[in-house]
Amino acid sequence: MVSFFPKPYPDEILYSVMARYHIRSANTSPKVTLRELFNSPSTIATADLPSNLNILSENLQFFSNYTVEELIYKYTLYPFYSVFLPPKRAIQVKESMKAEQGGDIHTRAGIMASSVAMSRYFRFCPNCLEEDLQKYGEAYWHRLHQIPGVVVCPVHAVMLKDSTVPIQGFNKHEYQAASLKNCPITPNQQLYSNDTLENLLLLAQDISWLMNTKLSAKQPEWFRRRYVALLIEKGLATVTGRVNRKRLLDNFLFFYGHEMLEALNSTLNYQQKHNWLLNIVRKPRKSFHPIRHLLMIRFLAGSLAEFFNIDYDYKPFGDAPWLCLNAAADHYLQPVVTDLAISNCCDTKKPVGTFRCSCGMIYCRTGPDTTEDDQYRIGKIKAYGTVWEHKLRELVEVQRLGLRATARQLRVATRTVKRYALLLKLDTSWQSCDEYESVPSQEQPEDDLTYSPR
Ligand SMILES: [Zn+2]
Ligand SMILES: [Zn+2]
Repeated sequence: MVSFFPKPYPDEILYSVMARYHIRSANTSPKVTLRELFNSPSTIATADLPSNLNILSENLQFFSNYTVEELIYKYTLYPFYSVFLPPKRAIQVKESMKAEQGGDIHTRAGIMASSVAMSRYFRFCPNCLEEDLQKYGEAYWHRLHQIPGVVVCPVHAVMLKDSTVPIQGFNKHEYQAASLKNCPITPNQQLYSNDTLENLLLLAQDISWLMNTKLSAKQPEWFRRRYVALLIEKGLATVTGRVNRKRLLDNFLFFYGHEMLEALNSTLNYQQKHNWLLNIVRKPRKSFHPIRHLLMIRFLAGSLAEFFNIDYDYKPFGDAPWLCLNAAADHYLQPVVTDLAISNCCDTKKPVGTFRCSCGMIYCRTGPDTTEDDQYRIGKIKAYGTVWEHKLRELVEVQRLGLRATARQLRVATRTVKRYALLLKLDTSWQSCDEYESVPSQEQPEDDLTYSPR
C-alpha cells in the first residue's frame, strides 16, 4: 500500500521521485518499495524508459492525479526518443512503458542498435545540486541531465559530472537517490574547446526545448523531406534533391568540428562511403538516434523550434477546417469544412480553392488569403446543396416571404432566389416575373458575393 508519494521537484526524473519515496517510506528492503509501487518486487528500476507505469499510476491515484501519459511525458525520457520514431513504433514504446513487461522497450526505441553511447552513471550539475540543496534541502536527479547528448547544464553552462550511481546494471531492483555522497564535486577539467562547449550548450538547450514541447512522432520520411528542402535552400543539393556529398561534409564538419562530433559518438570522415550524415538524408525508412537528428536540425534550420514550426507545405488558405458560408445551414460561419481542393488558375497562376461542405454547398475562391476577412469571401458558388434548397422552399412556400426578404435571409442576390424558385418550381408569393423585373436592382452581381458578417 502506498500511503504518500513525494511531489516531484522541477525537472526531476521519475526514478528519482521513487528513490526519494524509498527513503521516506523507511522501508528496509528495496523489494518492499517495489512491491508497494508496482505490486511486484521484480520490477526493474529503469531511469530512462521505465515500464509498469499503469500499475504505478493506479497505486498513486489517491495522492496525485497523474495520468499515466503525464508520468511518461513529464518524468521519463520518452519525449526525447518518441518524436524521431515512426508513429507506430512510438506507440509501441509507450504501450510497453505502461505494461507490466517492458522488456523490449530499449530495442524498440532504437537505443540498443545505436552507436551513440548511453552514459554509464547518473549525472548532475554541481550548480544545480547546490541550488537544490539550498531550496529543497535535498538533492535529486534531474531528467535533463540524464539525456544522452546533454553534456553541459543548459541553465548554468557548466559541464555535467558523473555521480557514482550506475545508470544501468548494479542493483537493478533498487532506486538510489542523489546525495552529496554519491555526487562528489571533483575539480573542473576543461575537456573541450570553447567552441565545442558553446555547441554543447546549444544542443542542451535544444533538448530542453524538445522535452518540454509535446511533439508528435513523425515518420523518417517527414524529416528527410525537410532536410532535403533545406539542403536545396543552402545550395548543398540540386533542385531535384541530389545531395552534394563533399560540400555537405565540408560544411557540416566546419559547422561543428571533429571534437563536437566525437563527444557525441557521431564522427564523420571523407573515406566512409556510407556515413550517418549521408544516410539520414537518403534512407527514408531507417530511423536515427535523436542526437543525429538534432545535429542535422541545428545545422540546417538554426533552432529546433524553427525547424518544427516552419511550414514547408504551401497553404494559401491556411489550415483546415474552413468556414461554411451557407446561410441556410445551422453551422453557418462555423469552421466545419475539411474538404478543400487547390488548383491553379490558368490565367493568373493564382491558387483556386474549392471548398466542399457536408451541407452540400460547394464554393470557390481565388487565393491566397491575405487578410482575416478573406475567409468570408466567396468567388463562385458551384452548388448550393440540398440544405440550402430546403431552406429556400420553406422561406418561400411556408413562411411566404417576399423575394428580397428571402434573398436577405439566404444572403444571396434576389436573382439567385428567382432562378432557383423557377428551377425548383416553387409556389412563390411574389406575383409575376414582370413585377420582379420592374424592381430596380441594387444587388451585387450573382456569384460574386462578399459576406461581411462583422
Ligand atoms: Zn545546472
Ligand atoms: Zn455547410
